[in-house]
Amino acid sequence: MRIPSIRLNSGHDIPPLGVGLFKLEQDETQRIVEQALELGYRHLDGARIYGNEEAVGRAIRVSGIPREELFVTTKLWRDEQGRQAPLTAIDDALERLGLDYVDLYLIHWPHPSMGLALDTWLGLEEVAATGKARSIGVSNFRQEDLATIVEGSSTVPAVNQVELHPRFQQRALRAYQEPLGIRTEGWGPLGQGKYDLAELPALGEIAAAHGVSIQQVVLRWHLQEGVIVFPKSSRPERLRENLDVFGFELTAEELERIRGLDDGLRVGTDPATG
Ligand code: NAD
Repeated sequence: MRIPSIRLNSGHDIPPLGVGLFKLEQDETQRIVEQALELGYRHLDGARIYGNEEAVGRAIRVSGIPREELFVTTKLWRDEQGRQAPLTAIDDALERLGLDYVDLYLIHWPHPSMGLALDTWLGLEEVAATGKARSIGVSNFRQEDLATIVEGSSTVPAVNQVELHPRFQQRALRAYQEPLGIRTEGWGPLGQGKYDLAELPALGEIAAAHGVSIQQVVLRWHLQEGVIVFPKSSRPERLRENLDVFGFELTAEELERIRGLDDGLRVGTDPATG
């Protein structure tokens, strides 16, 4: 199945549905990435802190898929923040991945108490200029963190990757980002399994109306909202299910019902303190 791509402000295209690689051991990662690529996924969301970039690289090489057909993201960790650190951090990441470039390189967390977000961003701009990262962006940035780098640099982040699921929809942040051309990537799209989606009756009713699973409804909702997603699963049947969300369309009324499910439940770390 071919997933229609969307364009980032860098001029590069991204498949809006990928596979997440958080908390997976190396052996498991290689198997999952191989299976995901076999199923048709082309977008892999990784990070140095996930500790599995070598396995991602091995799976890519085993797949034989041409590099230009893949979209590979990785993220720098807090000890790689600062003006100079990203320039060596990217080389380390590329070595672990066995790649010449990544498609998207992100600052993983703003860590406001460190006060290094703008410096790190300026370093990332230099990384982009080398071609080692095709697009650059941020993750877990609040509006004030974004404002700091938008005002202090000449590059607008291509994406901001933030927690986003039916009970935590990030409406205010998205409204701020949209006119700037910053795409939203939603992590934990299924709530990281930390609450039971089935307890939201609207989702069950919408799923029944389309003959799909609740998880498929949620992922379809992200996509129709223009949010880029990469759910994680170690099970092949779920990888397949999560990819199979292009054969139905939610109505405007259904989208509105899901919009009404936001009660501000954050399941992950708060970037203000994280
Ligand atoms: P997720 O919302 O994707 O939830 C994963 C859980 O949902 C797993 O436990 C899995 O068993 C279950 N699941 C997946 N598909 C299912 C299906 N079809 N039916 C039933 N259950 C299903 O949470 P996540 O993995 O934390 O988020 C996705 C990705 O986002 C991560 O893998 C990672 O790449 C990224 N992420 C980024 C950050 C960040 O700080 N930037 C933080 C967390 C995650």
